[in-house]
Amino acid sequence: MSELTTEHYRALLGLDSNWKVSNVQFKPELKAVDIRVTFCEKGLTCPKCKCDCTQADFAPDRSWRHLDTMQFTTTIQATVPRSNCETCGVLTIPVPWAEKHSRFTLLFECMAIEVIQACASLSAAALLLGVDWKCVHSIMKRAVERGLASRDLGQIQSVGIDEKSFGKGQDYISVLVENKRTRVIEVEKGRTRESVDKLWETLDKTQRASIKAVSLDMWGPFMESTRVACPQAEIVHDKFHVSKYLGEAVDKIRRQENKELLEQNDETLKGTRQLWLYAMENLPEDKNAEFLSLQKQDLRTGRAWSMKENFRHFWECQTVEDAKVYFNTWYSWAIRSQLAPMIKVAGMLKRHLDGLVSYMNHPITNATSEGFNSRIQSIKSAARGFRNFDNYRIRILFFCGKLDLIPNVSTH
Ligand SMILES: [Zn+2]
Repeated sequence: MSELTTEHYRALLGLDSNWKVSNVQFKPELKAVDIRVTFCEKGLTCPKCKCDCTQADFAPDRSWRHLDTMQFTTTIQATVPRSNCETCGVLTIPVPWAEKHSRFTLLFECMAIEVIQACASLSAAALLLGVDWKCVHSIMKRAVERGLASRDLGQIQSVGIDEKSFGKGQDYISVLVENKRTRVIEVEKGRTRESVDKLWETLDKTQRASIKAVSLDMWGPFMESTRVACPQAEIVHDKFHVSKYLGEAVDKIRRQENKELLEQNDETLKGTRQLWLYAMENLPEDKNAEFLSLQKQDLRTGRAWSMKENFRHFWECQTVEDAKVYFNTWYSWAIRSQLAPMIKVAGMLKRHLDGLVSYMNHPITNATSEGFNSRIQSIKSAARGFRNFDNYRIRILFFCGKLDLIPNVSTH
């Protein structure tokens, strides 16, 4: 191999003077280029304590996949020396082109991360990169670990805690998000007190102390954990969850009423489920007449729907005082309605009134976490081989963690 070629590859790889390219082998039949790199420095530095030391021996020969040269799969091969430090013992020295334990060079990982981010699915990324599943996962895992190590968790003012379904059936994960920077901070298995306690452990005491408000559902374990971990923060119950409970009450009332009407051969409510789920302004134009005529009849479902719609004005109140006055009026209306499901929700809201009116001080919701739903959904469906929680966590943090994933390639 000519000196020009080896020197050219040395420059391409960004090697410092400790390393030289000793051979470049083209294998046209395999569409491959193998680059042999040799360590040429006599003295070694201990990777741990940085003292000068002698060489013990060589680690077993290794190879790293590099960026392709034209269409040729390019591999770096090297036998890396091991230092012999009096204090630290025998250690393999780090190589400038790759991270410890990685089978890829840093430049390959940079490109792979961008490919994974741009691809609709991980299998498409694997195909494009010409690597298998495990490799894609290992690159993502390292990227996430790198990102977590350099992540700034200071000055967080408000967070949201939410649950998402995971896998098949009734499995859940709990998610901690930062509202302002719209990022997932951490995910944990389950939706128990323990899950949320673990989520809070992601932040140290000082980081937690800067948090002024936490949005969450009226879910006991989430609240208890938050009160202990973040006693100074105001709990703000998420308005989308409230709206969901009210919607479910309307639906329960409709089902019961429809059943009773059908027993008298009255089909007034038949096939109207979706109509009552719309918010007024989202009602399709062609459904307007039908809905208005239903509204004019004295249906229990109609009354329940009005209560649900009316509650939206609660969130428009400007002060805690106004919100309390509004709530009390709404509450008396609801509990006199004789609509059991609505009375039940009203009772729950009253028990959580403090967390509802704190919205007027901190108008935050779980919208940030809701915003990740489609992305998390697509991670779930696109991720073949997605079997365990740890893989799922890596994927969520990779795509929704706003982490600095790219390795630092300072030599280039
Ligand atoms: Zn040492």
